[in-house]
Amino acid sequence: MAVRIDGKATSIKRRERILAETQKLIAETGVRPGLAVILVGDDPASAIYVRNKKKGCEDMGFLSREYRLPAETSEEELLSLIDTLNGDPEIHGILVQLPVPKHIDDKKVIARIAPEKDVDAFGYENVGRIMTGDFDFVPCTPAGIMVLLEEYGIDPAGKRAVVIGRSNIVGKPMAMLLLHKNATVTVCHSRTQNLAEICREADILVAAVGKANFVTADMVKPGAVVIDVGMNRDENGLCGDVAFAEVEPLVSHITPVPGGVGPMTITMLLQNTLTSARKAAQAK
Ligand code: NAP
Repeated sequence: MAVRIDGKATSIKRRERILAETQKLIAETGVRPGLAVILVGDDPASAIYVRNKKKGCEDMGFLSREYRLPAETSEEELLSLIDTLNGDPEIHGILVQLPVPKHIDDKKVIARIAPEKDVDAFGYENVGRIMTGDFDFVPCTPAGIMVLLEEYGIDPAGKRAVVIGRSNIVGKPMAMLLLHKNATVTVCHSRTQNLAEICREADILVAAVGKANFVTADMVKPGAVVIDVGMNRDENGLCGDVAFAEVEPLVSHITPVPGGVGPMTITMLLQNTLTSARKAAQAK
């Protein structure tokens, strides 16, 4: 039977470390990490994410600022708020909860966040840094997956890794991080031919597709490590991209949904904010 990779326990452990390091930073430098989260509109799912981020900050002793703007906020108004926060010394991380309303260009918004406060690592400078391997921040979901692999003693070096999905926030950065750890990486997407055959070669298979029960038993190599990023809903509630019941008996490690990758995401946002605050303290 596979080892279930416990994202909840790993996240708790990691947050204990972040809390201790935050207290040390405040005591030694007087700098308290500060995160500003901006939510435009009233999307209920986004509101839950923002609430969880705020709670995470409070638990770590961070300064947490939340800006809830009406859906009709103009792009100019949002950019102007970002400019103000870019210049605010109490704020070390700025996050605009996506998606923003259609009349706002999200690319412009992300590009406006100062790279040193771009704790989601979605901006062009941080994306470039991830490519070259010279980075401080990594998008939170792939960063959390790398922590899980490390926690469970899974070294990607020399392994065949297959990532299904090529989004800018999960698939592409995930592939880069595995490459930096010396895996041989293949990225698959909706136009990939012979997907099952490629997946069966994977020692580490990462599914970031967004389709319930997408990865089936015939797509995994016996003994592989399977990381399920998907967050979907079926008749039983929240589920991942992997047909868990049929895949689990075949593999060495697997992340459940819920309780696998999900809990790590906000933890890594807190980690990135702490990193940014530490750099700001050093620069003082
Ligand atoms: P996305 O932007 O929709 O990307 C999905 C990717 O899957 C695309 O690259 C797409 O290929 C590929 N795909 C779709 N159908 C496919 C098929 N039949 N065969 C092979 N590839 C296929 O999604 P995302 O933002 O990366 O998120 C993926 C999943 O992870 C979602 O369920 C999301 O909710 C979840 N997620 C979870 C967390 C977390 O904290 N746990 C964080 C972020 C996302 P094309 O590029 O060719 O269209």
